[in-house]
Amino acid sequence: MAGSTRVGVLALQGDVREHAALLMQLGADVVLVRRREELAAVDGLVIPGGESSVIDKLSRIFDMQAPIRDAIAAGMPVYGTCAGLILLADTVRDGIDGQESFGGMDIEVRRNAFGRQTESFETEIDVPALGDRPVRATFIRAPIVERAGADVEVLAALADGAIVAVEQGNLLGTSFHPEVDGETRFHERFLAKARDFAEARTR
Ligand code: GLN
Repeated sequence: MAGSTRVGVLALQGDVREHAALLMQLGADVVLVRRREELAAVDGLVIPGGESSVIDKLSRIFDMQAPIRDAIAAGMPVYGTCAGLILLADTVRDGIDGQESFGGMDIEVRRNAFGRQTESFETEIDVPALGDRPVRATFIRAPIVERAGADVEVLAALADGAIVAVEQGNLLGTSFHPEVDGETRFHERFLAKARDFAEARTR
């Protein structure tokens, strides 16, 4: 093995530490990404949960929107949880005025889709792509994927059909937060993509 995979966590706002800790536990070399140079040094990026409108605004203030869009267009693996999923969506519903996303996934996502009554909840969901053991999923003011394009693979849905985990090529997104439940399989899947991307780059 030629060293560990170097991946970034977008560190503008949100649960950056939880993702960084989990990725390190999985053996990755983790960079907190706030600048263009830091993004250029990684082979994958996690966009954490938090507040998508704040991460969006800060990304523009820090001149990171264009570099992140370029990285996505170049095929860099990106994993977004909750607010991070919103930022990967081509279309965002119920955003604040002027809210933008990085986009890249052909999905339509509705923010805070579970309403005020259910600010947060936990449940177990089946994610066949990750094996037989169900995933313990924590939802916190979570979005739902209301439309997924033909190139998007739906990895998980709730009993009522609400789509909560999606994948399109090197982009992976979940409405919930595996990083708070010690669920490692989504991050492992992301790291495998980052490893392949790094290899393809140096070939
Ligand atoms: N409601 C938040 C948003 O719109 C997402 C919440 C979360 O990331 N836990 O960005």
